[in-house]
Amino acid sequence: MSVTVRVPAKVNVQLAVGAARPDGFHDLANVFLAVGLYDEVTVTPADELRVTCAGPDAAQVPLDRTNLAARAALALAARRGIEPNVHLHIDKDIPVAGGMAGGSADGAGALLACDRLWGTGASRAELLAICAELGSDVPFSLVGGAALGVGRGELLTGLDVGGTFHWVFAMAERGLSTPAVFREFDRLAEGRQIPEPVASQDLLDALAKGDADALAAAVTNDLQPPALSLFPELAATLAAGRDAGALASLVSGSGPTTAFLTRDAEAAEKVAEALTASGTCRTVRTAAGPVAGATVL
Ligand code: ATP
Repeated sequence: MSVTVRVPAKVNVQLAVGAARPDGFHDLANVFLAVGLYDEVTVTPADELRVTCAGPDAAQVPLDRTNLAARAALALAARRGIEPNVHLHIDKDIPVAGGMAGGSADGAGALLACDRLWGTGASRAELLAICAELGSDVPFSLVGGAALGVGRGELLTGLDVGGTFHWVFAMAERGLSTPAVFREFDRLAEGRQIPEPVASQDLLDALAKGDADALAAAVTNDLQPPALSLFPELAATLAAGRDAGALASLVSGSGPTTAFLTRDAEAAEKVAEALTASGTCRTVRTAAGPVAGATVL
């Protein structure tokens, strides 16, 4: 018997970053949108905890107990006093270290799959609490749709979205480490007063209306300057998407994946073709959102 869970990637349509807190984390106002690019996590009983991964970026995924899927299984098993003896297989389509919460997706997926396999019957609240322990982006991977995250990004409020938004994602030649991007944010912020991070009302209204032009005018990412500082070549990818007619071009989360908002699926295909031809990125994908969060198949 096995259980498979499908989990989407995310794009941050707003990522407002506050000053570093005494614990080193940053307060965020983070507006997440789940998009239709998915990892699938399959859990099967086994003699001991084991992780395997397939997909284009599989070689970059750790297969030991640092893998977020393994950490999720260990966390649930520890709470129930049971042995975490499962084989976790990840079919990975979300780029690794791309700022699209791929590892977080696997953590949320493994948690839901283990809960089903073991019949542990965790409540939604308990699942969300375990997700928040695993990482700031993991709760959103569980719930999907669109949400505002505050705190470290893990305190979520669901948002209404009045339509489907069409995106193009350009994957970069190499990854960027999220902690390194935050460190660069702190370095660039030195000596400056950093405002409290707050969600933009214009952005929330644009989401609620399903208005792509209004959303394009409102998207912001405070991690874009530090990501560009560490990875200057991303400027050429952003320019190529803009030139191809994207309504908005931005770094996705901590990068280095870049995200391009388009008016409809047809426009997305055109921007995707132009980005592929530009030679400024590794691969290009289209995906629409919002989509549902972690789902048992
Ligand atoms: P985020 O958008 O949440 O900042 P990300 O998408 O940029 O994250 P991930 O793909 O989650 O980045 O991977 C970041 C690092 O986490 C990887 O380099 C890898 O070492 C580690 N990692 C742990 N578990 C996983 C997993 N299941 N899949 C991918 N990476 C994982």
